Amino acid sequence: MEFDLIARHFTRPTPGAVLGVGDDCALVAPTSGMQLAVSSDMLLEGRHFAPQDSPAGIGHKSLAVNLSDLAAMGASPRWATLAIALPADDDAWLKAFARGFFRMADAHGIELVGGDTTRGALTISITVIGELPPGEALRRDGARPGDDVWVSGVIGSAATALAYRQGRLFMEQIDAAKVLPALYLPTPRVALGIALRGVAASAIDISDGLLADLGHILERSAVGAVVDLAALPTLPVLQRYLHESVARDCILAGGDDYELCFTAPAARRDAVLEAAARADTPVTRVGRITADPGLQVVGADGHALAITRTGYDHFAA
Ligand code: ADP
Ligand code: MG
Repeated sequence: MEFDLIARHFTRPTPGAVLGVGDDCALVAPTSGMQLAVSSDMLLEGRHFAPQDSPAGIGHKSLAVNLSDLAAMGASPRWATLAIALPADDDAWLKAFARGFFRMADAHGIELVGGDTTRGALTISITVIGELPPGEALRRDGARPGDDVWVSGVIGSAATALAYRQGRLFMEQIDAAKVLPALYLPTPRVALGIALRGVAASAIDISDGLLADLGHILERSAVGAVVDLAALPTLPVLQRYLHESVARDCILAGGDDYELCFTAPAARRDAVLEAAARADTPVTRVGRITADPGLQVVGADGHALAITRTGYDHFAA
């Protein structure tokens, strides 16, 4: 359907595919000997973005959150499909959306090879396909007691930006500008994920909050962890505007940062730092994996914090 619209906005050369947009299926040929990593993420208006949000930003973020899953697996991005429901044929909106989408796609070498377009409440569903050498995926079940726990970039910014955007938090514009990109223009840590192949023991991307997402690693790996609150990397601006307990909540439980949380044997610290330097991505050691199950957060005074919220749950009331 909507052939004009698809031709106008979503048809680009796809030198990395055998056949791109325009037939009943796309045809792709994986690099010989590689495994495919496949993931989908759906974004709904009213839940993942607001009607007034910039369409270019929605294009950027909807692909970025999908690329983040490839990053968390250590996969190299190759192909994507885009299923989109649109309330109306709004050419200006689509043009801006496509601009944001393809800028993100070009930055990470992923090609749009197909999709579906239909009328309906604005919904964006993307599937990404990446490649990996067999056995090198950064799975959630690889953490072992004694591993260090690491986090890329800074966390808590997106949750702070959301509070600002919803009018629950006052910030000077110059400071708001420091946290807003985390919410609207997240950077998927694709290069870091690839650099961590053969180095990290396990990894996940932080979409629902550090505690919730690290919790998935702990559960799948049947281990526990101790996290050092003071070590967690954040922007200084958080401490300036947020009450301590609120800042802690944003840092530990705030979602939408799309940083990587990963574990690696303590003996591989130098290798982790080398990988991070190669990927030009800052990483911080924030804790360690324990044989005892459970997740403890230790404050600056050395005492464990009582943790009430473990993350942002889309299905919570
Ligand atoms: P069919 O009816 O066979 O599913 P469509 O008319 O839905 O075909 O789509 C025509 C072609 O355009 C297909 O190659 C499909 O993959 C592609 N396509 C449709 N919507 C999109 C989109 N939003 N982005 C990229 N490709 C799309
Ligand atoms: Mg179709």
